[in-house]
Amino acid sequence: LLYNQVQDLKGTIRVYCRVRPFLSGPPDMQSTVDYIGENGDIMIVNPRKQGKDARKIFTFNKVFGTKVTQQQIYVDTQPLVRTVLDGFNVCIFAYGQTGSGKTYTMSGPDLTTEETWGVNYRALRDLFSTTKARQDMIDKQFGFSCLTLTFHTLEIRNNSQLNGLNVPDASLIPVTCTQDVLDLMRIGQKNRAVGATALNERSSRSHSILTVHVRGRELVSGSTLKGCLHLVDLAGSERVDKSEAVGERLKEAQHINKSLSALGDVISALAQKSSHIPYRNSKLTQVLQDSLGGQAKTLMFVHINPEADAFGETVSTLKFAERVA
Ligand code: ADP
Ligand code: MG
Repeated sequence: LLYNQVQDLKGTIRVYCRVRPFLSGPPDMQSTVDYIGENGDIMIVNPRKQGKDARKIFTFNKVFGTKVTQQQIYVDTQPLVRTVLDGFNVCIFAYGQTGSGKTYTMSGPDLTTEETWGVNYRALRDLFSTTKARQDMIDKQFGFSCLTLTFHTLEIRNNSQLNGLNVPDASLIPVTCTQDVLDLMRIGQKNRAVGATALNERSSRSHSILTVHVRGRELVSGSTLKGCLHLVDLAGSERVDKSEAVGERLKEAQHINKSLSALGDVISALAQKSSHIPYRNSKLTQVLQDSLGGQAKTLMFVHINPEADAFGETVSTLKFAERVA
């Protein structure tokens, strides 16, 4: 193995927590995040309680505070991404309530500024350049696909046969550089022909999965190398208020919550090395089945909005994360 040298990568599941900054308001606004430790601890404080009952600590592989840059986030993601070139399948998920920073982590706020690129583009660029530089690898090929899983449909964009993904009729587009992928994604966005607000609305109610397949042959042994990376921006994890959502909207919200808890069930069953992994309980886990479990590696970024109003969701996000860690 060329890239899998990092101690931290021995396990198959890791959880990173990222706290987004306050977006507006007075600088002295009270954060629900009391303390972030070096060793993956995060202490949260209930704004409506006093004393030691108000505080609770959770522990993950890493916790990133509000000042951590996109570059720094990628430094801690890169070793995992590179295991794709050793033939591993990798899933990177962004979990959290709407507005907590999932899309910021995965895509970034703005495609045009490389400095703020998220994990998606950095990972693609990294895989392309690393593969190109590898002299021990021949017949190098990349494929890219982009899926949106919604409540009603399994919608497939950019698409015909996609190996390794249990989705009929999805297609793998051959790509040769990061720019090809950026172009495809821009076309995908344009085709959707919806405004930014509508796009946000929609992204908060669907799971978006970008997949990169890398293939090659080892020059010396002649053996084939095959790995893939799934980059998943999950639907918002917030509970909807039954008094506010009715009809289809309520059904959709319940469906999203069900698919997120099905994902949690699969990852926690994997973490506990359980003999039964309940992949079949949601479309999301069915689609990703080949890349969850076995030799595959999973990274879950859970996102926290530090505002007092979000405290309830923050607690449920951290509980979800604790269950899969
Ligand atoms: P989500 O995808 O979870 O709904 P977004 O990624 O769209 O949330 O983030 C909501 C808002 O917060 C956006 O305006 C985004 O630019 C901003 N934001 C999120 N995370 C950060 C961060 N780490 N630093 C600066 N701004 C952020
Ligand atoms: Mg989003």
